[in-house]
Amino acid sequence: MEQDREGEARGALFRALPTLLLPWYDQNKRDLPWRENTDPYRVLVSELMLQQTRVEAAREHYVRFLRALPTVEALAACPEDALFKLWEGLGYYSRARNLQRAARLICENGFPQTAEGLKRLPGVGEYTAGAVASIAFGAPAPAVDGNVVRVLSRYLGDALPAAQLRKAYAAALAPVYPAGRCGDFTQSLMELGATVCTPSSPLCLACPLLSLCRTKSDALPLPARKPERRHTEVTMLLFFAGENVALCRRPAGGVLAGMYAFYTEERALSAQAVEEALARAGAGGAKVGQGTAHRHVFSHIEWEITAYPVDCTGREAAVCAAFGVAFYPLGKVKAELSLPSAYRWALRLFKE
Ligand code: SF4
Repeated sequence: MEQDREGEARGALFRALPTLLLPWYDQNKRDLPWRENTDPYRVLVSELMLQQTRVEAAREHYVRFLRALPTVEALAACPEDALFKLWEGLGYYSRARNLQRAARLICENGFPQTAEGLKRLPGVGEYTAGAVASIAFGAPAPAVDGNVVRVLSRYLGDALPAAQLRKAYAAALAPVYPAGRCGDFTQSLMELGATVCTPSSPLCLACPLLSLCRTKSDALPLPARKPERRHTEVTMLLFFAGENVALCRRPAGGVLAGMYAFYTEERALSAQAVEEALARAGAGGAKVGQGTAHRHVFSHIEWEITAYPVDCTGREAAVCAAFGVAFYPLGKVKAELSLPSAYRWALRLFKE
């Protein structure tokens, strides 16, 4: 009996959401470049960009990206180096690669218009599929990310870790999607989480859900224990000769797969060990500079880096053969090639 009453009360809380949120959204939504229209390609690009990047950081990149690649056909045909250059600063380059693979599939087969169809595109999971299906195609497809879970768990008073709530919320939201305003409803939930029901110090007095909210506080959801990051000692060798610096490509299948990089070993090497490796490679006598320490944090790994500049003037061929690198003018590396931020910081170690 008690359970029935709670089930009914929760149903009423879900049904109240569109009525409370949509008028608030109409008045308060931020002016964001991806809200100019609901073209599916533009929506897909924005959702992939926003997967691991904050709105403010994505904004400028989005405008630049769309200016350079205004259509799905342009993205499908873009050379990978140019694509990565456009993505530079956003990190998680696998998203750019997925976006291009998705664009090629869309060019071949057309744009999927349902969440189920969208989920078959590379890089498109449950949340992104719901967002694109509802915003671009007006489908009643919920998009429940961490933000939305936070809003709803506070609104409903659900004291459980976020991961346990996501599916249940998606199932409960689907039937209350308002016909004709599905995209706005998805965006109103996201907008509330981003601007009012923020992770700490929610602005409850400005919240359209205040009258029905069961907590009116930031106490929920319960924090999930984050998996520990793996620490890895990394040695980078910054080979240079005059104005040229040496790069290789990251190996397939690992972090930053296929991206430009300085020669990297996932172990700590002393300057002496580097000199010995150079001698074995037929590049003995190359000058190894002082190591510089730097930490780079990925989502699941932390690199403790020591980077050694190595002046290998006159020994370029031996270095290229032994370490699998190629030399490029420093100016070109800075201006044209996309070097991930795990490596880009080291450019300052080359003297102009
Ligand atoms: S009233 Fe406060 S806690 Fe409740 S949904 Fe609104 S901002 Fe979040």
